[in-house]
Amino acid sequence: MSDSKKNDAEQDLMSKIVSLCKRRGFIFQSSEIYGGLRSCYDYGPLGVELKRNVKEQWWRSVVHGREDVVGIDASIIMSPKVWEASGHVTGFSDPLVDCRKCKSRWREDKLAEPKCPKCGGELTEARQFNLMFSTKLGPLEDDSATVYLRPETAQAMFVNFLNVQQAYRMKIPFGIAQVGKSFRNEIVVEHFTFRSCEFEQMEMEFFVKPGTDDEWLEYWKEARFNWYLDLGAAPDKLRLRRHEPDERAHYAKDCYDVEYEYPWGWDELEGVANRTDYDLAKHEKASGKKLSYFDPQTQERYLPYVIEPAAGADRAALMFLVDAYEEEPPSEGRKNGRTVLRLDPRLAPIKAAVLPLKKNDEKLVAKAREIVQEFFLHSVNAFYDEKDSIGRRYARQDEAGTPWCLTVDFQSLDDDTITIRSRDTMEQERISVDEAVKTVESKLRAKA
Ligand code: ATP
Repeated sequence: MSDSKKNDAEQDLMSKIVSLCKRRGFIFQSSEIYGGLRSCYDYGPLGVELKRNVKEQWWRSVVHGREDVVGIDASIIMSPKVWEASGHVTGFSDPLVDCRKCKSRWREDKLAEPKCPKCGGELTEARQFNLMFSTKLGPLEDDSATVYLRPETAQAMFVNFLNVQQAYRMKIPFGIAQVGKSFRNEIVVEHFTFRSCEFEQMEMEFFVKPGTDDEWLEYWKEARFNWYLDLGAAPDKLRLRRHEPDERAHYAKDCYDVEYEYPWGWDELEGVANRTDYDLAKHEKASGKKLSYFDPQTQERYLPYVIEPAAGADRAALMFLVDAYEEEPPSEGRKNGRTVLRLDPRLAPIKAAVLPLKKNDEKLVAKAREIVQEFFLHSVNAFYDEKDSIGRRYARQDEAGTPWCLTVDFQSLDDDTITIRSRDTMEQERISVDEAVKTVESKLRAKA
């Protein structure tokens, strides 16, 4: 395929995904009725479930599934001294260039050529642009009231390191995890939710004894890579890429990116970095408070090194959507093609759709409603739908990524059985109504 054809195909795929997101209620543009706001997005009924499931799977894997990691939920606004000490006030910036002709703005380090990608115009010299959003805390407008919206969640783990270690009597090696919003005034926002100014991060700081940091970096980069694989991402579209020395953040001794081959090419999903004792040392110096750890067994006192897997919930959700999207052409057995989201059932927004064959048959409707209530009682997210033909309802659920559709038909009234249709194979089998929740739960577990 020629380059321009490939670009068109990529554009086409992304525009289909953006349109599916709007049509089915995954993601809308923020403030759409006012023309939208640059790079701000709202998650709709399906999108919020997908993103919650991504975050829940992350929390299960990184926190609940192990003894040595605990969570926190810190304030988004922190003391400005945190950002001065961490180097963000002076150094969290990207090189900004302006096009002299069309006045568009670009991030110099992301340009393939030193000219404007939009009109080919000449660019200005680069100047450093700080990505932190600032605001004022309290009624005063002077500089002393300036605070920042956090650009990463990590700093809260560093400043709470001893609080958590002592309150929870954690022994090194151990980690502190957090999921929450971060804000960056990005120069270029791009690829739908991939790069936006407000986003959610899933970060964990793993504190280790210096000297064991290389092993732990190895461990976490593999663990994090495998998390995406386990949740169904295509293995040939995932890779781990080690940063070149000149690419690493100033605090990092070594770093790997988990990358995915998006429709626009390979790009970052998550970074796994060895942050050394950089942050703890900076905070120790700036706050005047000791942040070292005392090892009761070896009687040593030291500043731990930190291995940080830092992922984005929005990026992961977008990747899973892109990866799951498939257009199946018509085949011998089926004259209509279909669009299907082959999401792992653990990520699927709706686990089961319950459908009465006909909406104007009271008995079918009553039975279907009883079944859906059973799902609600068991906290399995189910959806009741009676509108349109059964074929159209299946098609809607395929597009929403719902792994199983349960249909209540006339036989159900006689023998208390229903059909369960698989999204992926489209095959149906009959199961008893009493077994409906159990069957879906055990299929979900089989995937877990
Ligand atoms: P990039 O090089 O893409 O700007 P980064 O290396 O600055 O990203 P980190 O600071 O390592 O990103 O942040 C960790 C993770 O947070 C990223 O891997 C990504 O998943 C997510 N993230 C960072 N910036 C954004 C953003 N502007 N929009 C959405 N997600 C983001």
